[in-house]
Amino acid sequence: QDKHELYPSHAGDYGGDEVSQSKLAAKDLVFEILKKRAADVDIDRCGPGEEDPFYVADMGEIYRQHLRWKMNLGRVKPFYAVKCNPDPEILRLMARLGNGFDCASKAEIDLALESGVDPSRIIYAQPCKTKSYLRYAAQMGVRQMTFDNADELYKIKANFPDAELYLRILTDDSTSLCRLSMKFGASLDVAPQLLELAHRLELNVVGVSFHVGSGAEDPKAFLKAVQDARLIFDQAAEIGYELHTLDVGGGFSQDTFEKFSAILSDALDTYFPPNIRIIAEPGRYYVASAFTLAANVIARRDVPDPLDPSRDAYMLYLNDGVYGNFSNIIFDHQHPVAQILSCENRSRASSPDAATPEGFAYSIWGPTCDGIDVISERINLPGLLDVGDWLYFEDMGAYTRCSATRFNGFSDTHEVIYISSEAGASALLDY
Ligand code: PLP
Repeated sequence: QDKHELYPSHAGDYGGDEVSQSKLAAKDLVFEILKKRAADVDIDRCGPGEEDPFYVADMGEIYRQHLRWKMNLGRVKPFYAVKCNPDPEILRLMARLGNGFDCASKAEIDLALESGVDPSRIIYAQPCKTKSYLRYAAQMGVRQMTFDNADELYKIKANFPDAELYLRILTDDSTSLCRLSMKFGASLDVAPQLLELAHRLELNVVGVSFHVGSGAEDPKAFLKAVQDARLIFDQAAEIGYELHTLDVGGGFSQDTFEKFSAILSDALDTYFPPNIRIIAEPGRYYVASAFTLAANVIARRDVPDPLDPSRDAYMLYLNDGVYGNFSNIIFDHQHPVAQILSCENRSRASSPDAATPEGFAYSIWGPTCDGIDVISERINLPGLLDVGDWLYFEDMGAYTRCSATRFNGFSDTHEVIYISSEAGASALLDY
């Protein structure tokens, strides 16, 4: 069945100028489609796996995030971080929006190239690269790449001496969710020696890059990193390099975007004249809110409420967990929030006494046999859920599917229903 036929795009209906208005309408649209798809499953007769979790992906949401980026960071060209969610439809949209790609492996380079972009729109932003991948990048014409240590420079000299190099510098990422600077980045003390070495090796250094950490909380980290980058540009000039590009990395998110981008824009305008090209590697910012996940309740256990043993509480077991799409709980320190998609109240053993003004108390677990596989230790929901009911989770687009495993024989690939709540995205994607 053609997914676009089954769930036709409502593009045009929701393409108003008022972003928050169209966002609200988009949420309604996503909910409607989640409900319709879940209702297609007859839980008592379906074949194995027909009740598997599934996503609804609203490409219109990515489009709105792009407009927001353009409005606030017009000078900065996004190179979407493929690692965050390598879904081919996302990559296709990014390519059509004119964005580039940040890739960290051969497979990601292949995915980016498959979207049809020129290799010049790819940066191999992994400071410690596999030798054979470096040769592959050379073969495919992916010239831009980062480095942060001397060994990498020798490796690049031997395998891709014509590469266009960005020196990745250390940042203060102490307030970010996922810290990167403990693993990557040259300190300001070491940077001049690296530039000298690159010069001696006759390598082509063209810019500086940094990453303030994924899920960054302190916008001043951007200001400090831009100031540090300026210093490196000046040091490079003394050595004989005329750097032309600054890569400000990722670390942007939905909630803090305007605040961060205002500080970043000011810093860029203060320290970098307009002839310097500015690129970024946003991941989470673009896609987190575009994907909504639905999962099925496969089992339920009635237990005394740990907070009030005179009442009932329920352990719910879903067919997705931290070894699957909820890998973001472990790797990305997220706390996905369950909401009820369907609640049929079919249970004979239901216990209305369990309800409190806040609803029924649940803990929510994944399907594997590991105790670590918990999605929510405690949540109140306004309905008595049972086997066969559905829950849904918003904001599941970043660092979810890409780090799912097949532990215990559960699938790591799930259906994605693509829709578009924005006419602009529908037109670009031919929906
Ligand atoms: N660029 C690099 C080099 C990264 O390591 C990451 C994430 O780990 C990103 C970009 C994307 O970061 P974010 O999703 O916070 O925008």
